[in-house]
Amino acid sequence: LSLEDLCRDNYVQLVLSGLMKGKLKEIDEQLESKTSIVYPKAHEVLGLDAEATHLTLNRLVEAGVLAKERARSVYACPNCSSVSIRPSLLCPSCNSDEIAKVDLIEHLTCGHVAAVDEFTQAERYVCPKCRKELKTIGVDYRRNRGAYACSNCRGRFTTVIEKWVCNACERAVSAEELQRKDLYRYTINEGRRSELASLLFDLSPIAEFFRGAGYHVEERPTIFGLSGAEHRYDLICVKERDKGAVVRLIVAPKEVGVEQVAALYAEVIDSPIFRKGLRRPRNVIAVCVPEAGRDALRQARLLNITCISARTPDECLEKLRAEPWEKREMKYPQLLM
Ligand SMILES: [Zn+2]
Ligand SMILES: [Zn+2]
Ligand SMILES: [Zn+2]
Repeated sequence: LSLEDLCRDNYVQLVLSGLMKGKLKEIDEQLESKTSIVYPKAHEVLGLDAEATHLTLNRLVEAGVLAKERARSVYACPNCSSVSIRPSLLCPSCNSDEIAKVDLIEHLTCGHVAAVDEFTQAERYVCPKCRKELKTIGVDYRRNRGAYACSNCRGRFTTVIEKWVCNACERAVSAEELQRKDLYRYTINEGRRSELASLLFDLSPIAEFFRGAGYHVEERPTIFGLSGAEHRYDLICVKERDKGAVVRLIVAPKEVGVEQVAALYAEVIDSPIFRKGLRRPRNVIAVCVPEAGRDALRQARLLNITCISARTPDECLEKLRAEPWEKREMKYPQLLM
């Protein structure tokens, strides 16, 4: 697969333009409970979902376009792979976790060792074994900080067993037994930057075109649909109460198909846009790269969606200027108005 072919994909375009335009400097992996890898920033800023991002990033690494480096390691339960684990201290004698840090006092005169509170009597320290009062630290008694007391077996220890306990399955293991997972960070391979710039479809000339026509333009806003689904348009352009257009870039390996136009229609129907009194976009424009297929065009005509086939932003701009897109008004089902 050549780089040019690789770039004929919506996701590749989204990932690369996000990184190229500096919206994100890098894409970082994180582990969501158990083993699923997520990309929180890429989702938040670019609206990308985890599974498709994972696939796309690794395709781009293979093609040498992105650099991949280990960002961090996380540790997981070797039994169930959960990353939700907690440290736990266990008594070396009876294995109980009823361990507490205590300060110990050693009565040097009789050799008795016990917790500080066992020596405390009103304002004085009195040895619970020989009943003598403790006088001078370092002379007749010694304080020992950082010891552990087990309330189960009553033992006192200077070291205890450290274990990691899984919050999901409660298996306790030592640090060495934990499963290590490496998480990666992806960045643009700087050597390929200029080459990539020419392969990414840049909608900023289109955004400028709308701004020039008096529209207020938002680039890649998120719209929450009536269904609760999140929709990402590439551009939302609003002029006044009843004048608004949305632009969606659709990139396909060969040609944009009818199902992609139908999916866009479904999203538009699902997404009310509340901007400056506008409720629904009047015009819907699909920028189809490299071109819209015959069925896609027929379907678009039926739905009053403007399909513009273009290989380059310049070609797109030229065609947009010649199209009567403003006269093509979306048809909304009555019920949803
Ligand atoms: Zn577990
Ligand atoms: Zn004593
Ligand atoms: Zn114990």
